Amino acid sequence: MVKTYSLKADGNKKLSENFKVSEFRCNDGSDKILIDEDLVVILQKIRSNFKKPININSGYRTPSYNAKIGGATNSYHTLGSAADIAVSDVLPQVVAQYCESIGVKGIGCGANYVHVDTRKSKYLWKYVGTTTSTYPVSSFIESKTAIIKTIQRFLNSNYASELSVDGIVGVKTRAAVKNAIAKSKNPVLKFASQGKDVYLLQSALYCLGYNPEGFDGSFGNGLKLAVSKFQKDKSLAVDSVVGKNTWTKLKEVL
Ligand SMILES: [Zn+2]
Repeated sequence: MVKTYSLKADGNKKLSENFKVSEFRCNDGSDKILIDEDLVVILQKIRSNFKKPININSGYRTPSYNAKIGGATNSYHTLGSAADIAVSDVLPQVVAQYCESIGVKGIGCGANYVHVDTRKSKYLWKYVGTTTSTYPVSSFIESKTAIIKTIQRFLNSNYASELSVDGIVGVKTRAAVKNAIAKSKNPVLKFASQGKDVYLLQSALYCLGYNPEGFDGSFGNGLKLAVSKFQKDKSLAVDSVVGKNTWTKLKEVL
């Protein structure tokens, strides 16, 4: 059941062991908050399972706020039945898999958060760059072969690489990544950077046997760790920031 609350009057009201009303407020500061009881049950299960704080990036959205940020029309957020959450120190893919295991039907996996909602028929998706793709959750943690295939398709469509999509890192795939880096402007990349050059960096690290934990064009914790490992291995300054020296070294060893 969906209940209506007032931020001013009910903000501190506890909804479950670890959640209170104000955490679900609309990011535009509106007083009215809709909260679906079933959503609270789901979030509390996630909280109790991981035993880590959960940040609700976006809970209830007024229709006008939802429209303003480009949310889907009739988004479950506008009904009080959805939340975009980040669990401290837990990868979104892992949170998404847990959600599926407890029977959550609406799950969207982003690079830094998971959308959960209380819909009744199963719909699972993954945000890839700016587009959205549907997947079975089991593929959220993709095999290395699947990721290499995606990288080969990325190189073919963005850098005209003409690779065969076989999921195997051979001489041609490495050369294609190297050429793509040579053609790119090699901007400084660091935590929270996004975009095509981040995809390129992730491609390079996968091809060199590092595991940046995802090919999503988003510089998150997994990529940060992989970059620092690469820098350490190559005796570069270890700062997890990809500047001129790291780009040059990547080209050199590919
Ligand atoms: Zn959402």
